Amino acid sequence: MSETALKEKILSSPSQDSIQPIASYKDVYKSFGEVDVLKGIDLEIKPAEKVALIGPSGSGKTTIIRMLMTLEEPTAGEIIVNGQNLWHMERRRKLVRANESHLREVRGDIGMVFQHFNLFPHMTILENCMSAPIHVKGESKEMARDYSVEMLNKVGLGDKLENYPSQLSGGQKQRVAMARALVMRPKIMLFDEVTSALDPELVGEVLEVIRQIAKEGEMAMVLVTHEMDFAQEIADRVVFLDNGVIAEQGTPDEVLMHSENERLVSFLSRFR
Ligand code: ADP
Repeated sequence: MSETALKEKILSSPSQDSIQPIASYKDVYKSFGEVDVLKGIDLEIKPAEKVALIGPSGSGKTTIIRMLMTLEEPTAGEIIVNGQNLWHMERRRKLVRANESHLREVRGDIGMVFQHFNLFPHMTILENCMSAPIHVKGESKEMARDYSVEMLNKVGLGDKLENYPSQLSGGQKQRVAMARALVMRPKIMLFDEVTSALDPELVGEVLEVIRQIAKEGEMAMVLVTHEMDFAQEIADRVVFLDNGVIAEQGTPDEVLMHSENERLVSFLSRFR
């Protein structure tokens, strides 16, 4: 089924509530020491849905997506990916983490692109892409190479296969990071402020790749972003995080254009 058809089915179906989310957070809390960052997050992401996560700096956006990638553990609550529990509370309120093999399987469904690229500096960009399919998924070198070349072509870097990250611009590095996530064929892609470390003239080429992935793939996407116009353009749903809770969510129009939430209006005024 094409992405458009799938999305129409999901978004127009009266029974969309019955479609199993690809990821859900249930009453999730997170504290760092004395600081309570997240105070009861309930969030569901449906297959193929594009969600933009916005909010003031320090409101916990990155923490939310890092928990999905199992890079942070919640203080309390439940996180489910593709029907499998990552963390849950036992009856006596002890947080239980899935076992390692289970975690590996769940992580395989998720791709993440970071603000600071996180490429391996001693590997060519082709090797950067081939590494996880071979070492995490056990794919053959040949298969990993073919698909990595295909994904690097998709992000417009098919002529740079043998280059090292240090030889690329920031925008190009970020496009490699996207190809590297895509080669794992994730069901959900997480983008953590992927343009905020870039010079302004390099932002466009990175957004263009995300736009293309959003149009093509059946993947769900969660984007932490300060690019409000971009969120308006590609998101199905915008979620505003403030003071540790989801203070507002809805279509881009509802949240970015017509909300009466004072904190949100004040936050958005900084981008106009
Ligand atoms: P955002 O992405 O919205 O800017 P973050 O999720 O990065 O917010 O951070 C939320 C809060 O949690 C901030 O106050 C930050 O300093 C704190 N924080 C994040 N990660 C850690 C950590 N590993 N140790 C201590 N505090 C952290």
